[in-house]
Amino acid sequence: MFVKTKGLVLRSTDYGDSDKLLTVLTDSLGKITVKARGIKHGRNTMKAPCQLMAYSEMNLMEQQGRYVLTEANTIELFTELQGDIELLSLSSYFLQVTETAAQEEAPEPELLSLLLNVLYALGKLRKPQALVKAVFELRLCVLVGFLPDLEGCGDCGDREVKYFHIMDGQLYCPDCGQNHGDGIRMPLGRGTLDAMGYICYAPAKQLFSFRISDKALEELGAITEAYLCTRFERGFYTLDFYKTLFYGVNL
Ligand SMILES: [Zn+2]
Repeated sequence: MFVKTKGLVLRSTDYGDSDKLLTVLTDSLGKITVKARGIKHGRNTMKAPCQLMAYSEMNLMEQQGRYVLTEANTIELFTELQGDIELLSLSSYFLQVTETAAQEEAPEPELLSLLLNVLYALGKLRKPQALVKAVFELRLCVLVGFLPDLEGCGDCGDREVKYFHIMDGQLYCPDCGQNHGDGIRMPLGRGTLDAMGYICYAPAKQLFSFRISDKALEELGAITEAYLCTRFERGFYTLDFYKTLFYGVNL
């Protein structure tokens, strides 16, 4: 059976002497594994669309749940992200998290759209890395079902909140926060809270249409990173590597 789909290469690994195995996030088939035959030989026209991060229209042959690439036309290669170590590392983190979050063969149009959105913001629009990272982390959590409760204190409903509790995904006021000392409880200001609300509910195409101060962005970034890693109950080596670029240590 032949299938036509659009997909972005999340992972590309060598397979035998001349083939590659691609993990692709598609709009209609979810996350699939695709074999690309003879890709490493000579001037194969499918080399570019088989690169990491390449977004292409793909023609696939499906046989018993296995896909073989028969034709691919590149839509976007995100070359701006390939030549800069910081941008490449941050993008690799986005790819690894997306691969972890995506389901096998369940359509993931929103996840693919978010990934395209953040890669575009990083490479073409040159949005600040910290901003793109925070938006990606929180919005991805929302897409996979970890919408935080941002409607006031989780215990008493008070609107004057002071903490975001990472494990609970809840806000707490200064008083109630004292009762939730276990787990990580992070302080947050009004600007950070407004940004979180925006990122959770904004239309996909307007994800970056908000303003945030440097201080609030720093607070937001610490919260979104901790929230994502806690919800997924794991770390990401791509994130560790990205951080070594700034701190020079293996965290
Ligand atoms: Zn309270």
